[in-house]
Amino acid sequence: MYEDYRLIYDHHTHTIYSHGKGDIVDNVKVARQKGIKEIAITDHGPGHHFYGLDKKKLPEMRKKIEELKVIYPDVKVLLGVEANIVTMGNFLDITVEELKDYDIVLAGYHYGVSHGHVFDNYICSHFGFPSGSRQALEILNTDMTIGALYENDIAILTHPGDKGPFNIKEIAKVCAETNTLIEINNKHKHLTVEEIKMIEKYDVKFVVSSDAHKPEDVGCVGKSLQRAREAGIDFSRIANIELS
Ligand SMILES: [Zn+2]
Ligand SMILES: [Zn+2]
Repeated sequence: MYEDYRLIYDHHTHTIYSHGKGDIVDNVKVARQKGIKEIAITDHGPGHHFYGLDKKKLPEMRKKIEELKVIYPDVKVLLGVEANIVTMGNFLDITVEELKDYDIVLAGYHYGVSHGHVFDNYICSHFGFPSGSRQALEILNTDMTIGALYENDIAILTHPGDKGPFNIKEIAKVCAETNTLIEINNKHKHLTVEEIKMIEKYDVKFVVSSDAHKPEDVGCVGKSLQRAREAGIDFSRIANIELS
């Protein structure tokens, strides 16, 4: 259905270093098989109580990536992180100084962290809220996301709109200003078709990502592209797609 495109990179994949199923090598092998020239390993930030990465393991991850560069010189492998957006400090669960430990930094909102309005967002997403409270929560969520975008060099904002109410328009404007790619995630339903249409008029660039938690899912972006197509955006606005 989408044979007319090539995926240039998949910058959002997970491994056993958070709660993915495969090791780094497994994700890299699948990327090679699928002809993808660049992949990022972006396990969950250390602030996640259940499956955040252990910072002490970073040298081990880096070593594995350096070894893979020798074995598979045809694939560029980046050591990244999917940091958690929180309400404290620089609005991420890694400090500004720690950003340099990674080749690429993604950020997204998740449950399982402290200081992220987790209880309210969980209740809101699963059971609904009276409208007044929902609006107040949307402001808090939007503020922490915008704070994270302004205070850190974030390459990709992952699945915005997932796991709580967010003002996608305000967030997209700041993504455009800070040169942050806004993600159409293949695993989660956000950005939705409606959300893509809502922000289409802003000067924001999109990215499609597999968010693979199993090696075989690396490079799978079919659902993301389907939503992009339904929303009617020009594929030239998707940073990691090359049309043939
Ligand atoms: Zn995520
Ligand atoms: Zn992810």
